[in-house]
Amino acid sequence: MKILKFGGTSVGSVERIYAVRDLIVNDEPKIVVLSAMSGTTNALVGIGDALYAKTPDKAKQLIQELETKYRGVIEELFQQDEFKQKANRLIDNQFDIIRGLCEYLFNERKERRLLAQGEIISTHLMQYHLEESGVNSVLLDSLEFMRIDVHDEPDLEYSSEKLTKILEQYADTKLFIAQGYICLNSFGEVDNLKRGGSDYTASLIGAAIQADEIQIWTDIDGMHNNDPRIVDKTRPIAELSFEEAAELAYFGAKILHPACVKPAQSKNIPVRILNTMKPHLQGTLITSKVSGREVKAIAAKDNIIAIKIKSGRMLMAYGFLRKLFEVFEKYRKSVDTVTTSEVAVSVTIDDDKNLDKIVAELQEFSTVEIDRDLSTICIVGDLMEDTYGYARKIFQPFEDIPIRMISYGGSKNNVTLLVKTEYKHTVLNLLNKSLFNL
Ligand code: ADP
Ligand code: ASP
Ligand code: MG
Repeated sequence: MKILKFGGTSVGSVERIYAVRDLIVNDEPKIVVLSAMSGTTNALVGIGDALYAKTPDKAKQLIQELETKYRGVIEELFQQDEFKQKANRLIDNQFDIIRGLCEYLFNERKERRLLAQGEIISTHLMQYHLEESGVNSVLLDSLEFMRIDVHDEPDLEYSSEKLTKILEQYADTKLFIAQGYICLNSFGEVDNLKRGGSDYTASLIGAAIQADEIQIWTDIDGMHNNDPRIVDKTRPIAELSFEEAAELAYFGAKILHPACVKPAQSKNIPVRILNTMKPHLQGTLITSKVSGREVKAIAAKDNIIAIKIKSGRMLMAYGFLRKLFEVFEKYRKSVDTVTTSEVAVSVTIDDDKNLDKIVAELQEFSTVEIDRDLSTICIVGDLMEDTYGYARKIFQPFEDIPIRMISYGGSKNNVTLLVKTEYKHTVLNLLNKSLFNL
């Protein structure tokens, strides 16, 4: 069994939905994980924001625009009246739910339900389209087998048990469709795996049923060596190790959800990134194999906060690091990068939830300084301790750019630098030249 995930752009128009159908209709057993049609989740976020801002008229207008879009899609997607009616009934139903969520006070629970509608709609439309085309497929309900715990961590064992049982009921079926992104939480409420979460769904489903391969179909021909939204000349990477791909995803390569490599890696399932618009291209293959002693790619992540924690007596003051990290542990805050000196430790975090409380506790035994508006620049590859020459190439571009932090040696897979976000554009372009000659 393979898992094929198609992102928002890949199902973003009727033409793209037809192209996905052509890619998935064959004899190979598969579960197809779909995102919402492009623009939908952003529109739903906008509706939620309007409701939080107590501007219900704006929310109503956005809802109307989204509904009109789907009515247009249905007209174009289906040929037979029977299927047009069926799809229009789905839209009636989901938009009744959406409008219902706007009544009374809006809250986070309602917001999560609102955000789930995009994937529910896209998967139903695909299933109806397959039915109209005479293809035998089964629409799965991801809410029946995707669950997160109190700490927002997916429950893989639960998914594995549930999904295996569900699939057993359809022994003759080769094609399954499922929603990406959505899940239930520990209260049994509709929740999600955070923005871009459909990649994570695909990887979790793959791990849950020990799939042969997980394919991430998107709008670009694989993981590139640098961020194509910022740098003009980038090129696809043919092969990456799980570690390299995980670092790139975690440190900002938007093409993969930050956590999506882990489940696949845990079950040693190859992940392939492919382009829906150019399916003949080889894309990127991610496996346990480490290939080539070289720098593979650069990624950048914004909204980073650096915390400098100074102690009067760090040198020989054992226990300081333990005390410091216990504070982060207490607030379940993951620290991305760490550097130390004789008297101070700097760490980075990527959101400011509970930051006030963390700072207050740190101040009980140290002085604390906070820097905001920073970006990490992460250089990833097989950077063995005995490879020569990379330091010069990495640091050359920083002649006129101040560096806030440098981290290397935690693993041989990455060098991480911290700069003010205003320099990110320049840094990524200069590094592209010095490391890749592009
Ligand atoms: P999908 O909707 O299919 O999930 P995303 O927009 O989430 O697609 O991810 C694909 C996009 O990621 C690309 O169009 C590209 O702009 C962006 N991207 C950022 N960094 C990289 C990278 N290193 N390699 C490829 N794409 C990247
Ligand atoms: N639709 C969700 C989002 O836009 C999930 C995804 O596309 O992966 O974030
Ligand atoms: Mg994505």
